[in-house]
Amino acid sequence: MKLCFATNNEGKVNEIRKLLGEEIELLSLKDIGCTEELPETGVTLEENSRQKAAYVYEKYQVNSFADDTGLEVAALDGAPGVYSARYAGPECLAENNMNLLLENLKDKDNRRAAFKTCITLVLDGEYRQFFGTVEGEIIREKKGAMGFGYDPIFRPEGLEVTFAEMTIEEKNKMSHRARAVVKLVEYLKR
Ligand code: IMP
Repeated sequence: MKLCFATNNEGKVNEIRKLLGEEIELLSLKDIGCTEELPETGVTLEENSRQKAAYVYEKYQVNSFADDTGLEVAALDGAPGVYSARYAGPECLAENNMNLLLENLKDKDNRRAAFKTCITLVLDGEYRQFFGTVEGEIIREKKGAMGFGYDPIFRPEGLEVTFAEMTIEEKNKMSHRARAVVKLVEYLKR
């Protein structure tokens, strides 16, 4: 079966290709000739991931799935949430996003936060969603140089290190995205 992962992030495609095994031929957007921006105008992770998967399914007639992730901070009523990528502006610079979040939290003692991922799969017109969450806290200063996005300021619950101080393999064992992907893969292999 051919299945397109509706993302421009080749790293994510390779990561999932390893998990899927041989029965599923995983295609990237490039593989199906899709070079345009995917629509992402929803106000929830569920809507955005569904929009991206539906766009590929409807326009290219290929089964597909898409992911969307947000960092929800309790003391900020769930912000930046679905707007995590553009928190500090449309340039989507991780450094600016982290600085703004640290600034907005500087007087807050409640540092609780959670990364949440929603994956929408569309198979022959049938839609299904898979979720993954990791709880943790936003520390006061950036630590670590690995990973991407908000990794240097996010420390998962029960650990002494941030995501940016973990290897990719360590992070992939427990991340929000990995948890959602495991459910997707289990479903596809059923
Ligand atoms: P996306 O839906 O995967 O594009 O993620 C939205 C935004 O959330 C990204 O721009 C990142 O800033 C952030 N993000 C997503 N996943 C992670 C992660 O694993 N670590 C840190 N930041 C992340």
